[in-house]
Amino acid sequence: MAKMKAKALPTQAEDFSAWYNDIVYRADLVDLGPVRGTMIIKPYGYSLWENIQKNLDAMFKATGHENLYFPMLIPMSFFQKEAQHVEGFAPELAVVTHAGGKELEEPLAIRPTSETIIGEAYSRWVQSYRDLPLLYNQWVNVMRWELRTRPFLRTTEFLWQEGHTAHATAEEALAETRQMLDIYATFAEEFGAVPVIKGEKTEGERFAGALMTLTIEAMMRDGKALQSGTSHYMGENFARAFDITFNDVNNEQAYAHTTSWGLSTRFIGAIIMTHGDDKGLIMPPKLAPYQVVVLPIYRANDEAAKAGVMAEVDALAAALREQGVRVKVDDREGLSPGRKFNEWEQKGVPLRLEVGPKDLEQGVAQLADRLTGAKEAVALGAVAERVPAALAAFHEALLERARAYRDEHTYDAASFDEFRERVEDGFVYAPHCGEPACEEAIQEETKATARCIPLEGPSAEGAVCIRCGRPSGYERKVVFAKAY
Ligand SMILES: [Zn+2]
Repeated sequence: MAKMKAKALPTQAEDFSAWYNDIVYRADLVDLGPVRGTMIIKPYGYSLWENIQKNLDAMFKATGHENLYFPMLIPMSFFQKEAQHVEGFAPELAVVTHAGGKELEEPLAIRPTSETIIGEAYSRWVQSYRDLPLLYNQWVNVMRWELRTRPFLRTTEFLWQEGHTAHATAEEALAETRQMLDIYATFAEEFGAVPVIKGEKTEGERFAGALMTLTIEAMMRDGKALQSGTSHYMGENFARAFDITFNDVNNEQAYAHTTSWGLSTRFIGAIIMTHGDDKGLIMPPKLAPYQVVVLPIYRANDEAAKAGVMAEVDALAAALREQGVRVKVDDREGLSPGRKFNEWEQKGVPLRLEVGPKDLEQGVAQLADRLTGAKEAVALGAVAERVPAALAAFHEALLERARAYRDEHTYDAASFDEFRERVEDGFVYAPHCGEPACEEAIQEETKATARCIPLEGPSAEGAVCIRCGRPSGYERKVVFAKAY
């Protein structure tokens, strides 16, 4: 990547896509894997994922879910059992045909998602209504053979969590599906500072085999949508395919109702594209690998100044860590402070704390904010208290900024011509007839897709379809956008 650094980071306005493809490497989040479409997640990127994982996992456990682990190899025959599911996933399957130097009797798919292998196990684990609900989740890698790939957004192998639950009734399963959507939305906003629209997918955009797919959709800084988490209600589809039956309270055989829900390393793409600017990344404080970078500043070879500055830097770092703040002290020798500023700015560390001999004379450190560029002198004794407050304010400001950006790029359209124009610049709320063919035509003509039927939003009562003029098929206007 050394060659790339010689050139400037492209601005977002000039080429958003080039900006993204450049910053993921410059900020040292990833490197390319040797197999096309794979990525090596480097420590700075992996640490972000670990923070996503840790916080989301706590929310899953607080709502009664447990983690387990299923094998990554799935007998091919399992995929044949649910017709829509196999149709949806077959083109993306990577299949193992040989192992141990021999051709296998039955080819094995590398999991693209685990409904099938989990469905088979659940059929053995569930006998009676007393065995329900099953509320399980796994944190794993999955593989989907994609032709066009981009780090985090679309890779042949990615990391995610997949929750799989089984319930005695449709009501319970639907409540679970909605609960997990709420958890994703809360997580996105409260941890990622990523504002999202909660909604239901249209039939054409539904998960293969699901009766209902709920989604959270976020707007990137180029006006495009990124689906950031999904929660599916399968009804009895997978239970029928895998024979997940139980004796209900009346001792009658019934099929379980199942759900699945997932959030992946794509969410890192959402963070990058919701917050980043022309200088690089901006990390949401609650997920940032480092929340504060401390830069000791002294002239090279001034050993006395160095000793004084380093003593104070170490004390400040210790006091901050005691407050639970994730601190990085950049004490690398032989790099100018300017070079270090730029590097951490590019990596999007929310706060930078500078400590030099002049500051020490005045008993202060300089606290700089990555979002606004503002700098303030903070008394050394007050730093440990000031930083957590500054981080909390940073989160709010970041979320507010993202909301304002989304609102500025969200439109209503009175005609299909207006729709066509507006959808180039963001989200458009428009009534739609609900016909899959009409939805496909919109995609062909504008490249925009129905992101969701929002759970909250403008009513479409009495309205007619933006494209074909038939009566609206939904209660609300549909959110359309170009999407990743
Ligand atoms: Zn229509």
